[in-house]
Amino acid sequence: MSVDSFIEEACKVAKELDIPEPTIIRGEELKARGMGGIYGVGRAAACPPALVSLSYRAPGAADNVAWVGKGIVYDTGGLSIKARTSMVGMKGDCGGAAAVLAAFALAVKARPTVNLHAVLCLAENAVGPLATRPDDIHTLYSGRTVEINNTDAEGRLVLSDGVVYASRDLKADTIVDVATLTGAQGTATGKYHAAIISNSARLESACVTAGLRTGDLAHPLPFAPELHFTEFTSCVADMKNSVADRNNAQPSCAGLFVLSHLGFDFPGRWLHVDMAAPAHCGERATGYGVSLLCVLFGSRTHSRLLRALAPQL
Ligand SMILES: [Zn+2]
Repeated sequence: MSVDSFIEEACKVAKELDIPEPTIIRGEELKARGMGGIYGVGRAAACPPALVSLSYRAPGAADNVAWVGKGIVYDTGGLSIKARTSMVGMKGDCGGAAAVLAAFALAVKARPTVNLHAVLCLAENAVGPLATRPDDIHTLYSGRTVEINNTDAEGRLVLSDGVVYASRDLKADTIVDVATLTGAQGTATGKYHAAIISNSARLESACVTAGLRTGDLAHPLPFAPELHFTEFTSCVADMKNSVADRNNAQPSCAGLFVLSHLGFDFPGRWLHVDMAAPAHCGERATGYGVSLLCVLFGSRTHSRLLRALAPQL
């Protein structure tokens, strides 16, 4: 599935829900708007990358919740290319964005009591003459600069632009990003539990509860920016995009990378869901994340079923 067809699907969902057409920022416009993360990852592909945003505005609501999904429609690894066997199946690297879109469609049918936004960060991480090189420095939407030392650590780059868009443009005070982000997630929490990290103990524990109630299981990771963020130290930019030591809490570090673009002093609540392993079972996708998001925010809908299942937020 290309970025084009993912966008078509998002437009179809918006039409079916009878909400305004999605906002689509695409190709050179991403660069002009300063979204060097999504632009840099997707610029070598035949189908240009895009940030797609769908919004449901609840009458009289002041709170803004945004779900941000990683939608790498194919991940070759870029110039830091994947090996022959590890590239197979990378059509599934858009599982986070797929979960966000499907959960958004269900949640809107349950009539949210908050403004709810779905932000899809769509790109193909391709190889070509325009591809991002290791050593390139990109400026992300946050204004922070990133030295690329691994073009296969692309998910965090697109997500960083997505969460900053959610905060700056959508005024979101609660932001959840969902992604097939790191192979190390499977080592850390296994095939059935996503690895989660949050700046809010309450949101984190609500996510664990929602996982137990839906079967989309989740387990917390250490949250220690002061200890782990030094993994990204760069001599020439604000940070590198891949860690120095791959044996030092990699899934935590990848999450911290995303938060660093919101800022470690982000006043809102942020939750990161790395679902790399539970996104698939063998060669098929599982749909992980759809039930999790709907039940986690069930108390912010009019659905009796979702409200009954929802944890305290
Ligand atoms: Zn990758």
